[in-house]
This record gives sequence, structure tokens and C-alpha cells, in this order.
Amino acid sequence: MARGPGSITDDVLQEVSLMYLCCPYCGERSGAEFAYGGDASAPRPGNPASLSDAEWYAWLYERDNPVGRHQEYWYHQLGCRQWLVVVRDTVSNDIIAVEEPVGSGGGQP
Ligand SMILES: [Zn+2]
Repeated sequence: MARGPGSITDDVLQEVSLMYLCCPYCGERSGAEFAYGGDASAPRPGNPASLSDAEWYAWLYERDNPVGRHQEYWYHQLGCRQWLVVVRDTVSNDIIAVEEPVGSGGGQP
């Protein structure tokens, strides 16, 4: 199957399918039920209109590619449809913690 730019590869899809996340609402589920939602270590600016174009660009596109523990947003798309903050080791793919986003009540971050 052809995939567009930015789509995940078969290798990544296989790794996610083998990963298990313990959703605070649904319990332990296959990673295939979740969708990656991006870096959770850089919260969205409270007032984006106050940022310069360079600051907004930096927040949108200039991200680290960390080795080791990393906070990420994951969406339980085939379950409770809640956003979660997952701490994942990017080397071993171990899940260290799964939590609700602070102040969101599980809504979109
Ligand atoms: Zn869930």
C-alpha cells in the first residue's frame, strides 16, 4: 500500500502493534489502538498571537529527537478517545508512565 509523505513505515507500525499501553480509563491495550500525537514536553504557548513568526515556527517545527525518556501525546482512538501523556523510552520502547494531560480532563491537549 502506498503511503504519503510523513506516514509511518511498516517497521514503526509493527513496533506500535507490539507495544502495550495501560490507559487510565480502559486498562492495558495494544499500541495499535492508539495514535501518536506529538511531543508533550513542549506545551502549546498560551497566547500564540503574542509570538513572533520565528518563535511560532520554532515551537511548531524545531523539536529535539531525544534518546531515552520522552513525554509524548497519544490518542486512544479505538478506545475511550481520550488524549494521554505517555512517558516512553525511545531506545527500548518501554512505557514508563501513562497519565491524563494536566488540566485537560482527557481532552485534546
Ligand atoms: Zn482508553
